[in-house]
Amino acid sequence: MSASRKLLILPGDGIGPEVMRQVRRVIDWMGRRRGVAFEVKEGLVGGAAIDAHGVPLTDATLAEAKAADAVLLGAVGGPRWDKVEFEKRPEAGLLRLRKDLELFANLRPALVLDALVDSSPLKADIVRGLDLLIVRELTGGVYFGEPRGIRDLGNGIRQGINTQVYTTTEIQRVARVAFELARKRSRRVCSVEKANVMESSLLWREEVTKLHQEEFVDVELSHMYADNCAMQLLRNPRQFDVIVTDNLFGDILSDEAAMLTGSLGMLPSASLGATDADGRRRALYEPVHGSAPDIAGRDMANPIAALFSLAMCLRHSFDLAEEAGLIEKAVAQVLKGGMRTTDIMAPGMARCSTTVMGDSITRALDKLNV
Ligand code: NAD
Repeated sequence: MSASRKLLILPGDGIGPEVMRQVRRVIDWMGRRRGVAFEVKEGLVGGAAIDAHGVPLTDATLAEAKAADAVLLGAVGGPRWDKVEFEKRPEAGLLRLRKDLELFANLRPALVLDALVDSSPLKADIVRGLDLLIVRELTGGVYFGEPRGIRDLGNGIRQGINTQVYTTTEIQRVARVAFELARKRSRRVCSVEKANVMESSLLWREEVTKLHQEEFVDVELSHMYADNCAMQLLRNPRQFDVIVTDNLFGDILSDEAAMLTGSLGMLPSASLGATDADGRRRALYEPVHGSAPDIAGRDMANPIAALFSLAMCLRHSFDLAEEAGLIEKAVAQVLKGGMRTTDIMAPGMARCSTTVMGDSITRALDKLNV
């Protein structure tokens, strides 16, 4: 069975390798203690690949990524490579991966664990128990639409142009991901756009509604304007289960939702592509945070965002919901017991390193798995 689960790990730069070391420990634990084995390869991305090969992602690594069932990435970038020309920057490696794997659906969960309810900038009463998922369209919309550019209109006047454009296919495929995910959660999807002022949004609403009626009547569908959604996320975020939205609104709303949880070190993400003939879906999992150069190399980083990304990978790429749940439960128990990395430290808690957090989580896994 081991050969059928192929994982490519790309630790990247800064704290990337530090948090991915803890991920590797949990993957090994899964093989040893749950009989869930993976064929794991490691590769270079970002600054580490620039240093070794002069480019942020080699063709060979890209080919490995395409051959894998899932890619787990740490983080890329750092001041060392700030002066590298734009298209060879570490971030270009990540963008190429997302583009060449055609990852069109970005999943950003916002989950508030009881032990961290006070880390949120919102009142505990508003965020306690929050568990929502934003599905953002990632490869279309105004960030890619043509025409685009800045043109000179003469007389000292210039015009900046970007075009919001979506096809039925682009809307339907991301909406389908949202509906399918909702089926594994509370079966509610809220589709977010500005159909009151934008034709592309009107098409979005029509296509989502059509797909819902044809294939997903068992899921509850609602529609909301993006400006209202921005307010509702602060007023009553628990009303949401799955939010599906376009690239631009998703960019903004997913960062807003992330802040409800209060800590960058806790936030995972997934980017999914199309399903191929064998039923295999291209997928990249990564923490939301960057390479954190300010704390890199000091065993201080919080590995939980990366571990939650692994949990998402187990759930969405390998149908291992039980194993994913074990990771989430182990983390919740360790936090309940008072262990905290510096970023989530609170009065009365025990400050610990990346490694000690990893130790505690694997010990909690052992206890849960008896
Ligand atoms: P960052 O996310 O790296 O760090 C922001 C702040 O949060 C820092 O103070 C950092 O110490 C802290 N932090 C982040 N992750 C943490 C963790 N796991 N545990 C504890 N503290 C954590 O963002 P930045 O400082 O804006 O960017 C640093 C570098 O990372 C830049 O080169 C940027 O381009 C890159 N970056 C990469 C990604 C990615 O790989 N997906 C995302 C964002 C930024």
